[in-house]
Amino acid sequence: MACNHLSEIDPDLAPRVDGVCEECVKEGTTWVSLRVCKTCGHVGCCDSSPRKHARAHYADTGHPIIGPVSNLPSDWLWCYPDDTYVERD
Ligand SMILES: [Zn+2]
Ligand SMILES: [Zn+2]
Ligand SMILES: [Zn+2]
Repeated sequence: MACNHLSEIDPDLAPRVDGVCEECVKEGTTWVSLRVCKTCGHVGCCDSSPRKHARAHYADTGHPIIGPVSNLPSDWLWCYPDDTYVERD
């Protein structure tokens, strides 16, 4: 199944914050890995983290696609509504 959400994102968007999940910092919890929202640059923690703030951000905003914070051209993208990895063009 193809993902139709790539038009909603900027794959080269820079993370809004550097190296932390701001919501975890506020709540005093820790995270495993960080994910960047490719629509707005929000940084949240991954689904292996206790609080899953990247997924919570999707639930709140509907922003569909995340990637790792490293932002290399070879990085994967993940689409929440399609529940699948997305191929870059
Ligand atoms: Zn999609
Ligand atoms: Zn978090
Ligand atoms: Zn977002």
